[in-house]
Amino acid sequence: MEQKKRVFSGVRANARPHIGNYLGAMKGMLELQDKYDCIFSVVDLHTVIVPYDPQTLQAQIREVVLDFLGAGLDPHKCHLLVQSQLAGEHLELAYYLGCIYPVSRIEDLPTYKEKKATYPDYINIGLFYYPVLMAADILIYNAELVPIGIDNEPHLEVAREMARKFNAMYGTKLVEPQRYATPGGSVPSLSGEGKMSKSKGGTIILTDSLAEIKTVLAKAPTDSGHGEKFPAEGPAANLMTFVELFEGHDRAMQYKEQYKNGGIRYGELKAELAEAIYKELRPVQERRKHYEEHPEEVEDILKEGADYARGIADKTLKEVRGKMGLSKHETTN
Ligand code: ADP
Repeated sequence: MEQKKRVFSGVRANARPHIGNYLGAMKGMLELQDKYDCIFSVVDLHTVIVPYDPQTLQAQIREVVLDFLGAGLDPHKCHLLVQSQLAGEHLELAYYLGCIYPVSRIEDLPTYKEKKATYPDYINIGLFYYPVLMAADILIYNAELVPIGIDNEPHLEVAREMARKFNAMYGTKLVEPQRYATPGGSVPSLSGEGKMSKSKGGTIILTDSLAEIKTVLAKAPTDSGHGEKFPAEGPAANLMTFVELFEGHDRAMQYKEQYKNGGIRYGELKAELAEAIYKELRPVQERRKHYEEHPEEVEDILKEGADYARGIADKTLKEVRGKMGLSKHETTN
């Protein structure tokens, strides 16, 4: 039987996942779990690279697992784990990958520069190592497809380069991963500043009530609502991205017409959009509730996920160690 394609993706636990994470990463995960051999992880080792609270980390990890399950990741179709369950395996491969990759390539990454600017007092080696560990997270499972947002594409390029270089140097067969794209690959912030991000305002999280969604939308910047041409960027364009994603292309086209003829009434647009977002999130919240009430089920799911992942990770590491001359026996996958 032909081996199913392997898929990996992870979400950090710095804050509750927002609808950007949902549309850019989780939607892709949901699509792929029906077809492929999927491993999805809360990547908590990536959470500690920026300032965080150790007292609340376990609770935050649990929230992300619950959001995964609420979003519809089905433990009968995919494997779920927390990255630190396999800390040794992921970190070991990251170390080997780091040994063959130039410092200058990481220094040039826009994501590294951004994080340095966000946390100027916390520019530590862990932050620098983030793309290396992310490459290891993917390469250790030989994942071919990675459902992630556009912001992560430079990291995937790093992972591909590492795989190529490593294979050329040691004769391993690490797989070069590709991004699996969804329509919401780059969801803007509702506060109007760049992409929606856990470290900024203007986010809607998966458990927000209709009232909470309305409050965030109420603060979203708007313009006059009319003009000769619908603007390609700015507040109107931002809101239209959400209309497209939650109400569809036709509704967005109607608003764009309205903009040129008579004008958009943003109060009404926001009320309708809030309902549409809530309609998408309500089933997520209902599924989530089941797992909130059954923590023992969640434990079992994570244990199964980690056991499954360990089997694959151990095989990759054995081969890598063998080819690197770090163990007596060279094995093949
Ligand atoms: P954040 O970037 O919000 O701090 P993570 O780093 O945990 O969160 O990202 C988890 C996943 O969500 C990644 O695949 C990332 O590419 C995706 N993602 C993050 N923000 C967005 C966004 N605004 N639009 C689309 N996808 C996003």
